[in-house]
Amino acid sequence: MRAMVLEGVEDYNLREVPKPECQPHGILLKVMANGVCRSDWHKWHGHYSRNYPKILGHEMCGIVEEVGELVTRFKPGDRVMIPVSGSEGTCDMCKAGHGNLCESYLVPGIGYDGGFAEYVAVPYADRNAEYLPDNLSFEEGAILSCRYITGFKGIVETAKVKIGEWVAIYGCGGVGLAAIQTASKMGAFVIAVDIKDAALEIAKKVGADYIINSSTCDPVEEIKKITNGKGVDVAVEALGNKQVVVQCFNSLAKLGRLLQLGVTQLGPEGDASIPINPLVQGEFQILGSLSSPIQGFKPMLELVAAGKLDVKPLLTETCKLSEVENIFKRMDENDVVGAVVCNDFAN
Ligand SMILES: [Zn+2]
Ligand SMILES: [Zn+2]
Repeated sequence: MRAMVLEGVEDYNLREVPKPECQPHGILLKVMANGVCRSDWHKWHGHYSRNYPKILGHEMCGIVEEVGELVTRFKPGDRVMIPVSGSEGTCDMCKAGHGNLCESYLVPGIGYDGGFAEYVAVPYADRNAEYLPDNLSFEEGAILSCRYITGFKGIVETAKVKIGEWVAIYGCGGVGLAAIQTASKMGAFVIAVDIKDAALEIAKKVGADYIINSSTCDPVEEIKKITNGKGVDVAVEALGNKQVVVQCFNSLAKLGRLLQLGVTQLGPEGDASIPINPLVQGEFQILGSLSSPIQGFKPMLELVAAGKLDVKPLLTETCKLSEVENIFKRMDENDVVGAVVCNDFAN
């Protein structure tokens, strides 16, 4: 089969590799769409793990081609999406319902070969795959599998945004746009912050009430102006930039919550310097949130299938398998808006 294989830092090659074998507890997925995510870009640059060779891609959607003998939920021909938060089901976190924090770290493209390939062997499929509603495209499913669920679950489950609250979202990529749409639908006032006008335009489309281009002003000051000096109840960091973490913190009103969705660089270089006295004096909370356990996907999928949430504005481009590296190079230049999804695995 054809696959993009990462063979070293920025050493990325389209080549033939053996088709993976379906495991007894797994499915063989014919990949129809796989999103090009910023965390793939990190791996391409060698910022995180350096295990080679590796097939990246953790935002997969496709058709079940083969089913292992232990699988009960799926059959060949089913349309499925593969949630980014893979797990094996036996560790304490899994047993407590937090499969997204599983010790096995069965994330596609990290724990096993991922979706920048024609086929993927997905392990423990009964818990690591979900039906894709018929009225959603594979490309939409790819965005839902990682970026949308991250914004959705962070706003709904972790920050528990309430009607009438003020929410500022820093970073209007896929995760930030999902957070904006979800917060807006929940009845919050939403302020979107980004350095690109094109991203802010999409932010408006998905529900932002105010937009701030932080390349031309101090976003903390602007947020204070908009909120009559108070600040926001929830500030969402959807980028993974340590300076922006501090800006989020400084944007909070008393009793505010900082929702951290972006991951920064590994090691002390990624650490943010949070002012401690204001943390105590304002009774602020800092909340981390990582994708979602599998049971959190169902409510999101139902809302999207019913048209109450709409992923389409996030999908800005599609690309071929051979063009994925080019998208990473454009990410270097900050030249990508919204979500790009690979949906042509023959070219
Ligand atoms: Zn992703
Ligand atoms: Zn586990």
